[in-house]
Amino acid sequence: MSIAENIARIRAQMAEAAIACGRDPKDIKLCAATKMNDADAVRQAIAAGVDCCGENRVQELVAKGKENAYEGAPVHFIGHLQTNKVKQVVGHVDLIQSVDRINLLEAIQKEAARQAIVQDILLEVNVGMEESKSGFAVSEVLPLLEHIADYPNVRVCGLMAIPPISHNDGDNVKFFQEIFNLSVDITAKKYDNVSVHILSMGMSDDYADAIRCGSTMIRVGTAIFGARNYAAPHQ
Ligand SMILES: *Cc1c(COP(=O)(O)O)cnc(C)c1O
Repeated sequence: MSIAENIARIRAQMAEAAIACGRDPKDIKLCAATKMNDADAVRQAIAAGVDCCGENRVQELVAKGKENAYEGAPVHFIGHLQTNKVKQVVGHVDLIQSVDRINLLEAIQKEAARQAIVQDILLEVNVGMEESKSGFAVSEVLPLLEHIADYPNVRVCGLMAIPPISHNDGDNVKFFQEIFNLSVDITAKKYDNVSVHILSMGMSDDYADAIRCGSTMIRVGTAIFGARNYAAPHQ
């Protein structure tokens, strides 16, 4: 199956999941998780109508940017970001989805202030409380947002979550619900400068569940591009 055929199939399944729970399919964006896929694959995905591209590695973001791979689509950063690389990301992407710790938030604030811009971000939540994953605990998010005015050059647009690897269909529903409930709590607080209109959750194996739980953006790699070849050398 081609990238375009895969995207058409995913769009159909997104629409089916949305309609089944009374949502408008237009309210759910498809972000192509492009790690380890080259500029040509990225261009095919954009031509086939993904809403944005999400990169995990700074090196790949920079290399594909130089090849004009992203023309016509917004670019998001979705991977673990080292503070010494924020300069290459802040102001170069439309959204940083993976703000997973305070010192990264501080580094982004500092760089965005230096550039005199406001950087859109999502807070990454470690919803499964996994040791191996970074991200804020659910309980840390409201206390952080109480102080978000300390970061005037960032705008929190929502939450991103990567639940634990699931072994059975439906395993992640409780995690998606937890993130949705957190977003409802945030909205109720009416914080200045915070509008949680993006809930980035759901990947190749569980996006239909995520949509049923209120996801507004799914990040899909394998189901678009096929399995990633971790053995091959890549950029
Ligand atoms: C790779 C990746 C995805 C996509 O995963 P698939 O299972 O291939 O769809 C989504 N989000 C993040 C943060 C990723 O790194």
